[in-house]
Amino acid sequence: MKKHNFSAGPCILPQEVFQEASQAIVDFNNSGLSILEISHRSKDFVDVMEEARSLSLELLGLEGKGYKALFLQGGASTQFLMVAYNLLKNKAAYLNTGTWSTKAIKEAKFFGEVKEVASSADQDFKYIPKGFFIPSDVDYFHCTSNNTIYGTQMKEFPNTPRPMVCDMSSDIFSRQMDFSKFDLIYAGAQKNMGPAGTTLVVIKEDILGKVDRSVPSMMDYKVHLNKASMFNTPAVYAVYVSMLTLRWLKKNGGIAGIEEQNEKKANLLYSEIDINPLFEGYAKKEDRSQMNATFNLVNDDLKETFDTMWKEAGINGLNGHRSVGGYRASMYNALPLESVQVLVDVMSELERKA
Ligand code: PMP
Repeated sequence: MKKHNFSAGPCILPQEVFQEASQAIVDFNNSGLSILEISHRSKDFVDVMEEARSLSLELLGLEGKGYKALFLQGGASTQFLMVAYNLLKNKAAYLNTGTWSTKAIKEAKFFGEVKEVASSADQDFKYIPKGFFIPSDVDYFHCTSNNTIYGTQMKEFPNTPRPMVCDMSSDIFSRQMDFSKFDLIYAGAQKNMGPAGTTLVVIKEDILGKVDRSVPSMMDYKVHLNKASMFNTPAVYAVYVSMLTLRWLKKNGGIAGIEEQNEKKANLLYSEIDINPLFEGYAKKEDRSQMNATFNLVNDDLKETFDTMWKEAGINGLNGHRSVGGYRASMYNALPLESVQVLVDVMSELERKA
């Protein structure tokens, strides 16, 4: 039976990427060797790393604008502290929109003062705070573009004279934006870009070198930049699969092309959530995420029936995050519209039955 994978991450990737990636395990580039057994210093792999780095900048429209891309390890969670290690001299401003921002704030506090400019904790992170003030004496402003757990997404970003850092783990490459507003972007690969194991970091180089502290090599962006993302053995396979996914995205119209698809998918599902009396959305409408739609059953007595129905339809990964409960449909780039239609059909079938 065809599977419809709404997993929040790791998650669905394009089928053709899975095919090509599996072939490379057996025979990479017709070399007679697996990608898993070759040196990361071999020309074949250096070419992969360079293509992944340049495709990232190209797709984000950041080529020739003073940015460099890195593929690091340790997940987005390591970026919570690496950002502060490299950029926080005295004080930084953070917008708290959920679990991941909270964790980023906790790590930043090891390195200096953190000013929480606004928080939506007062309403269980169901909305994105707006109209907050960013002091001019901070070293940078940090925000999370998409809140994977609560299903909220920033639609607008503040204009700030200070460098802007953004955790885009769960919506990078999904919608058009002026990415040059940001000075540092990071994203774990395991949503819109590839498998778990590598993290994309895009840095405007001129923001570095402002802190006085000594930074250990593995934590130092400059060290990784000087070594073209090859300071130590990179996550070879994760970078390769990310590169294949970025090639797929480019071939399919880049971010503009995928944004159109993502809008269609989100509109289809949110229309059903709003029209079907058995369901209610979790996030405030104006702040809803196009990537992760969070919703609940109005009457929990229907849970067993609904859960059986969606599982029988081949749907996977619909349970909400353990901290929120309910349901979460993650509609990343590679999820076809057809899968969202299957979910919507199950939801309306439940209404007919109930
Ligand atoms: N930020 C966001 C927005 C996330 O969704 C996640 C993981 N789901 C993380 C950070 C943490 O990423 P990692 O597990 O790669 O450390």
